[in-house]
Order: sequence, then structure tokens, then C-alpha cells
Amino acid sequence: MTVHFPFQNTYAALPANFFARVAPTPVPSPRLIKLNRPLAVQLGLDPDRLDSPEGAEILAGKRIPEGADPIAMAYAGHQFGHFVPQLGDGRAILLGEVIDADGVRRDIQLKGSGPTPFSRRGDGRAALGPVLREYIVSETMAKLCIPTTRSLAAVMTGESVFRETALPGAVLTRVASSHIRVGTFQYFAARGDTEGVRRLADHVIARHYPQAASAERPYHALLEGVIARQAELVARWLLIGFIHGVMNTDNTSISGETIDYGPCAFMDHYDPAKVFSSIDEMGRYAYANQPRIALWNLTRLAECLLPLFSEDQEKAIAEAQLVLGGFADAFNGAYQAGLRAKLGLFTKQDGDQALAQDLLDAMAKNQADFTLTFRRLGDAALDPLHDRDIRSLFADPTAFDEWAGRWRQRTGEEPQEPAARQAAMRAVNPAFIPRNHRIEAVIEAAVNRDDFAPFEELLTVLSRPYQDQPALARYAEAPEPHQCVRQTFCGT
Ligand code: AMP
Ligand code: MG
Repeated sequence: MTVHFPFQNTYAALPANFFARVAPTPVPSPRLIKLNRPLAVQLGLDPDRLDSPEGAEILAGKRIPEGADPIAMAYAGHQFGHFVPQLGDGRAILLGEVIDADGVRRDIQLKGSGPTPFSRRGDGRAALGPVLREYIVSETMAKLCIPTTRSLAAVMTGESVFRETALPGAVLTRVASSHIRVGTFQYFAARGDTEGVRRLADHVIARHYPQAASAERPYHALLEGVIARQAELVARWLLIGFIHGVMNTDNTSISGETIDYGPCAFMDHYDPAKVFSSIDEMGRYAYANQPRIALWNLTRLAECLLPLFSEDQEKAIAEAQLVLGGFADAFNGAYQAGLRAKLGLFTKQDGDQALAQDLLDAMAKNQADFTLTFRRLGDAALDPLHDRDIRSLFADPTAFDEWAGRWRQRTGEEPQEPAARQAAMRAVNPAFIPRNHRIEAVIEAAVNRDDFAPFEELLTVLSRPYQDQPALARYAEAPEPHQCVRQTFCGT
């Protein structure tokens, strides 16, 4: 019974300088610890066949499935603002592409499957902790309807990887609508390889922005498309309290998916300056900086496309600036609409932005939990008796009272029944997010005690983030002060 992957390999068919052909490095004893069965089905793969010793060997990189054409992709990138002309997949290997049940082409990539020509000083491996973190967070993002790469499987390799100490090694099978990044364009642009940029842009248009092909100016339309998707993506991150942590240009996907989960985190109490990543010493990638950084990254993409815009550089720059100017409106539109929905507003009125901002300001000042405040606001829309459950989240509860009066006046101007408002709010304000202290506990149990029950339980609760699950209600709670996670690590 062999595992069949209906692979296509369009990226591997691009010119040879786009990638390095390299096979995963075999590992001693693969052990499948998680298979995402619904995702397997969506990808046209047989979950029962994958859930086998042969499947584990494939997902660990020990056996190469028929039809795969394994490659490490070349890319460059600005890391914390500093340009590195060659990064590339240092510990990831693309096996191939499949067409999913919706007709969408999806990359299947092993992350942590051994060194490649792009590994530089790294070992090409991944530790179990970061693999579990990426599995949990990426799958939750999908359930929250935020564009993201997915996790098909996690396997342990039977090898140790050495970070500060010896840790169990693991491989994550990542699925993306592509792994092309802003940094992929930068790789060719930095070499003055305009034909490479054009070839890549054409591939991206065909794959992700087919409507741009028939636009009057396809490459301008491509940039517009990427800007629109990134603006929407970052707005969604803010609306859910997500901090990516390492928004380098090589971690910014061209398809508009959240990619490269490292020291990412969801915030507990609302703090616009919040940073979790231990390596982000200057707060470059702080929560509220994310829209600004997205625009900075998109500006780097625009620079790569200049030679495709016009031979006249000044004209090309002016045109690029015009397109980049669209980011602010796209972001603000998505963000403000999202905030209105979180507040249960069905219509748009002057003053809504200030109303939302005043709540956020009060939350920041009073260390109110971001997720719980909005979730409970839905119940308060049904019955002001529930106000007390929100007040208790604020250091000074009266800060909520003043605001609540204005909010009720505003919602009272709309005809919707309280129950309809509550239902609408519960559909956009999740009860459950992957809280850092929960993720840490999952990793601790798996790494130190080979116990994956907490991992499974957390995945269960996060598979329905908008539904109250009374038996698992503890997962909705904010951390006690002693449980608070203050820093997250890349773990690379
Ligand atoms: P990241 O911080 O995960 O976005 O990675 C930045 C760059 O470092 C990418 O080129 C990665 O492929 C590479 N990299 C990260 N970790 C490793 C590792 N353990 N071995 C080799 N390359 C790595
Ligand atoms: Mg990366």
C-alpha cells in the first residue's frame, strides 16, 4: 500500500537559479505524532495511507514519494531592516505541489528535513517545541479564517537537535498556496537579474493573481494585488491580537498568507507596544507597528518591480509610489470594518472609529485582556447584567462604565435585536486563542514527558474558537500573573 501524492512541480520547472535540487536527509526512526486528516483529504491525499510507517518515513524526509522533485527555494531578505542577499530554504525542502479539492495549487514542504545549500551555519533541523507551536498556531489561524500556511503533519525524527541543550528533533509538513516571498523577488533584483524578476512575476501572476494577466499593466496589477492582500492580512492580525514577531521581507508571503511562524504570539492584555520575541530588542515588530512594517516590506517589493514598470526609472518610481499609496486605505478600511464588527455595529457612522479607539485606549490603560473583553462584550450586548464580567477585566472598572454608556447609545440607534447583535459579535470575537502559557505547557509535556495529550486537548478546543466549550472553559482564561509568558523564542 503505497502513499500516492499527485505531484506537479511547476516551481522546479523554473530556471535552475531559482532553487537548489536537494533531497531531505534521512533520519533514524520517524514517528508520526500528528496527522491533519481533514487537510490531507482536502489535498487529495489518503489519510489512512499517510498514517502508516511508510507515511511517517515520507513526512520525516526518510523516503521520497514518487513524483516529488525536492528543492530548496532561493530567496534573499531584509532581516530587521538589514539586507541579506542570500537566505533561501536553509531547513525546508519543497516536495512538490498538489491541486486541492477547491482547485487551488498548494505546496507541500518539509520543514526541519536537513541541510540544504542555503543552510549557512544552521543544521537544517527543527526542534519539537517550535514544530508544535507552528502546528497549533497555524491551524488556529485557519479556524479563525485568517489566511495562513497550514500544518499537515508533525513527526519526530528520533534524532536530537542541539540548541542551548539537546532537544528532540521534529519535522513539520507545511502546506502553502506558495512559499514565494517578497525576499524571493529581492533575490533576483539584488543580482540585477531583471529577467529573473520578470519570470518570477509571471509565475506569481499565473498562480496567485490571474486577473492581473489581463490588466492593462499586469505588473502594476500584481503589486496592487499583493498590497491588498497584505493590508487585509495585517488588519486581521490586529483584530485578533496576533503578533507575528519576525516580519522580515523573507517572511512576507506574496500570496498574502501568514507564513514562517517563529516567536509569534497572541497577546493577553491589550498593549499596542507589545513585543514577545526575544530577538526583537528594538520593538521593530511590535503589535501596533505591524501595518507600518507591512508597508515597508511592500515598498521593498515595489523596488524589485521597478524595471518591469518602466525603463524610465523616475516614471517607474512615481507609479510605484502611487500604487503603494493604496495600502493605507486598504488597511484602514479592513481594520475599521473589523473593529465595528467586534463592537457589534451593523452600520457605519462618524464617530465609530473614535468609539473603538477609546475602548482600546481604556483597555491599554487598564491591562484588560483583549480576547475576553471583546468576547464578553457580546454578552453585554444581550444584557447589561454581564457588564460586571467585563468591568472585572479592567484595573479601574469605572473606565469601562463611561465607555459602555456611549456604546449602548450608539448600538441603540440600530434596529437589530440584542440577540442578533450578540450572535454577530460571537462570530467575530473568539472565546479561545492559543494563549502562550498554554502553548508552553503543551511543549513542556511533549518534550520532557513524551506526553501529547495536552497538545491534542489544546487542538480540540482551538478547532472551534468561536464556540463556548464549557468543559474546556479554562482554556479561555487569561494567565495568572505567575503563568504569564513574557518572551518567546525563534527556536531555530
Ligand atoms: P527564519 O528566522 O526561520 O525566518 O529563518 C531565516 C533564515 O535562516 C532562512 O533562510 C532559514 O532557512 C534559515 N534557518 C533558520 N533556521 C535554520 C536552521 N536550523 N538550519 C538552517 N537554516 C536555518
Ligand atoms: Mg523565514
